[in-house]
Order: sequence, then C-alpha cells, then structure tokens
Amino acid sequence: MRVKFYIEKILDELPDDVKLVAISKYHPNEAIMEAYNAGQRIFGESHVQELMQKQPALPQDIQWHFIGHLQTNKVKYITPFVSLIHSVDSLKLLKEIDLQARKSNRIVDCLLQIYVAQEETKFGFTSSELTSALDSLFVDDEWILKNVRVRGLMCMATNTIDENQIHSEFRYAHDIFNDIKKRYFPDDDKFSELSMGMSDDYQIALDEGSTMIRVGSLIFGERHYS
Ligand SMILES: *Cc1c(COP(=O)(O)O)cnc(C)c1O
Repeated sequence: MRVKFYIEKILDELPDDVKLVAISKYHPNEAIMEAYNAGQRIFGESHVQELMQKQPALPQDIQWHFIGHLQTNKVKYITPFVSLIHSVDSLKLLKEIDLQARKSNRIVDCLLQIYVAQEETKFGFTSSELTSALDSLFVDDEWILKNVRVRGLMCMATNTIDENQIHSEFRYAHDIFNDIKKRYFPDDDKFSELSMGMSDDYQIALDEGSTMIRVGSLIFGERHYS
C-alpha cells in the first residue's frame, strides 16, 4: 500500500510536464510490480547487473533509466534496451554509448551529469569541462555521435539540511542548462530535460525548474544493502 500511496502523493504535487522516475535499486521485483500496478512506468536503477536481472523478468513496457556511475566496459549490456542514461559523466563514456548503440541499431537518449555539489564523492562535468566536451562533438555545426541524443542535464545536490545551499546548487544547474541549450541546442526541442531532485530535495528541485525527479526511498522505503 505504501508504494501506491506515495506515487499518487508525489504525482499530485507534480506539474503535468514533470516526470517521476521511481528509483527501484535494491528493491525486489514485487515492489516494482506494486508501483507498476499503480500506473508507474519509468523506473531507475544504478547497477548494471541488477538492472540486467530485473529487466527480462518484468513487464516489457517499463522504461528503464540508468542513473548510476557507469563503467565503459558495462555499457554494452544496457544499450539494447535502456531508455535514458542520466549519468553520463565523461566524453569517453558518451563515445562508448554511441558505439554500442550503433551495434544495437538504436539511438540512445542520454543526459550529461554536471557537478554542482560540494562533495568530492560525486561525479560529473564542471561547466567548463562540459563546454569543451560539447565543442569537440560538433564538427561544422554538426553533431558527430549519431547514435546518442543528448536530451539534457542531470545533477545531484549536496547531501545537506541547508535548504539554501540546495536551492543555490539547483539554480546553478538550471543556469548551466539554459547556457548549454542556448549555445549548442537552440533549435533542438529534444534538449529539454533537467533531471534533479530525490526523496529529500525534490520539492526544492521543482521550485528550481526540474523536469524529472528521481525518487526512491520515499516510495519504496529504506534500501537494504546486502
Ligand atoms: C539512489 C538515487 C536516487 C534516489 O534516492 P532517494 O533518496 O532514495 O530518493 C536518485 N538519484 C540517484 C543518482 C541515485 O543514485
């Protein structure tokens, strides 16, 4: 009951154009089915092996998002079916996704992860790394990685109770999004997503212009790492 209750509660708070990604990492298929039966179709996982076990066992109309740090040698396992990779944090990784997507005859949607927090454990491009990466991917104004489509940006805020700090990190992410959109994707309607906000900070993220929130523990309860 918990799962359905919280999905409905969160959806009630969401503007129509904001998507809920239910983060199901470390939760069993039964919990995912409870969410599915409540109408949820977008789920996020952060470990390749776990995702590969779940995907074939669950309904095929689920849209799987990958949200964790992705190693290049594991890209090939998810490119055949993944619907969005939120956590692209290097040029090397983006190029590998392009290569593997081509082998599956797919165009894989990706978000570029930007580093906005004050925590060294978090991954992502700084604003200047992002512009130099993107500069290298347009040749004569043409995007060269034909099997990946950059749909926007993703970030994680610092894990803190200081709401002002979280507001300012998300606002900074939104500013970078606007700059990148203007500079590289002005006529591309598909560059439209800003993935930010988790269980503890999604309301702040919504205030700051998130288009996609990633909520796990509020929906599914505590995770049991084993
Ligand atoms: C685990 C995770 C989430 C969900 O976190 P909760 O606090 O459980 O909502 C969101 N985004 C990323 C990148 C995660 O790894």
